[in-house]
Amino acid sequence: MRFLNLNLKNLLTCDIIQTSIIMFKNYLSIIAILCVYFTSFSQVNKNTDLDILSLKYAKSSFDELQEFFSLPNDAYQPEQIEPNVKWCENAFAKRGYKTQRLETETVPLLLASRNYPNAKKTVLIYLQVDGQPVDITKWHQPDPYIPALKEQDKNGNWNIIDWNNLKGDINRDWRIFSRSASDARGPDMMFLKAMDIINDLKEQPNFNIKVIMDFEEELGSPRLPKAVNQFKNELAADMLVIFDGPRHLSNEPTLSYGARGIATISLEVFGPRVPLHSGNYGNYSPNPAMKLSKLLASMWHDDGRVAIPNWYDGIIISDVVKEILKQVPDDEKQIQKDFGIASTENIGNNFQEAIQYPALGILGMEAAWVGKSTRTIIPATAIAELNIRLVKETEGDRMVKLVKDHIINQGYYLVEEKPTEEERMAHDKIARFNAEVSYGAFRTEFDTEIGAWLRKGMRTAFGKDPIEIRTGGGSIPISPFVITLGLPAVSVPTVNPDNNQHSPNENIRLGNYIDGIKTITAILMEKL
Ligand SMILES: [Zn+2]
Repeated sequence: MRFLNLNLKNLLTCDIIQTSIIMFKNYLSIIAILCVYFTSFSQVNKNTDLDILSLKYAKSSFDELQEFFSLPNDAYQPEQIEPNVKWCENAFAKRGYKTQRLETETVPLLLASRNYPNAKKTVLIYLQVDGQPVDITKWHQPDPYIPALKEQDKNGNWNIIDWNNLKGDINRDWRIFSRSASDARGPDMMFLKAMDIINDLKEQPNFNIKVIMDFEEELGSPRLPKAVNQFKNELAADMLVIFDGPRHLSNEPTLSYGARGIATISLEVFGPRVPLHSGNYGNYSPNPAMKLSKLLASMWHDDGRVAIPNWYDGIIISDVVKEILKQVPDDEKQIQKDFGIASTENIGNNFQEAIQYPALGILGMEAAWVGKSTRTIIPATAIAELNIRLVKETEGDRMVKLVKDHIINQGYYLVEEKPTEEERMAHDKIARFNAEVSYGAFRTEFDTEIGAWLRKGMRTAFGKDPIEIRTGGGSIPISPFVITLGLPAVSVPTVNPDNNQHSPNENIRLGNYIDGIKTITAILMEKL
């Protein structure tokens, strides 16, 4: 075991360590007992040191954080992105990194690299810098791009308090409200501050670090797959770590080993060429809303399982995996209460098992008008938008084909645009079917070098094992790295789950910010 205090002498005074050394001398005769004691003692001590350091460096970060969080970063407005790229170039150069822009047709990706003398491996780190658009009228502060420090009152309201409070004693439940505070400029700042700690301690990781910064994540990273292919050599590494996303709902330290992929399907069933009077032609002209309903209903059993043949092929939840999934402390009664649902779909035995399977879902449906706009007609068409959340075993094109074949097996003739007159007269069941696979799922096994390394770092930081998520339900654009570069990837989520990401009043809890610096520092200090 490596003792952190060797490099800490100038930064911290460590009475505890001095004491332990004296004790060690005095009781040399009971070496066996002391060995056990000293090992566990140094573990505790490491945690304490990291707590002190992460708080100290968090406190020294707020000027820089304020400057960073104040830059508008909506990727739908590319002119906002350049100042963010420049800011990151400076921030990483200050920490001893070489930076290089990886140009795409729109805004660049930024690659920052730092090599260490005894490095045998290279760790690639993915950071996201852009944010969702803002609706300024929905934010309870003058400007979503001017970070506000807030405290919660007895009634649950968040009130702005003076930014200078950050110079005094910090309440870990205070929050900084601003766009991207959690998703994901908070984690970006945590990484920069962890680097400051590493640099000031003169720590030498035994791996090189490459940081890839994405400025179009909220657009779905449309340029990323091509760029990863084009800059294969520049991005080459042994593993990928993603510092992004919220911790488990319990807000306990978390590692996430995978995410689902995504494919979308647009389905439109055609009826009469134009809407018809429902009195004059009811019982005579077929109704496309009815046909679409029947078609959709044929895709599921009553208990929520997908009825399309071979849908769940290849997925085996072994007893070992079941045990892994069981350790996630989900309070399902509370989740169902929060959602207002009396029962769940019959897929897997619990929430974590359910998201190990591919999901087919209806995102929205439309046929004619409803409510006060209702008209007494037979609609001309009925549309359903669907998505498939993919898992590692279910390749996107195959799953789209399963849905397509199922629709054909229900007697449908499929088109890609509107049907021609000839097609209308030749087929009584016609539907438009358009599908797109955005990207696949990724999943790294727990029992891997990257898993063991990150777990060890988390244990050093928190003195206990993290919650380990096998596959998160959502999707992140990581599969290009995993597939093109062949890298195992794991996410280290750090921010509070109730951070309002993508919504107005996004925030980061200071306790999570400080713990995030601690988490990343502990990981970077862990030898590979
Ligand atoms: Zn996001």
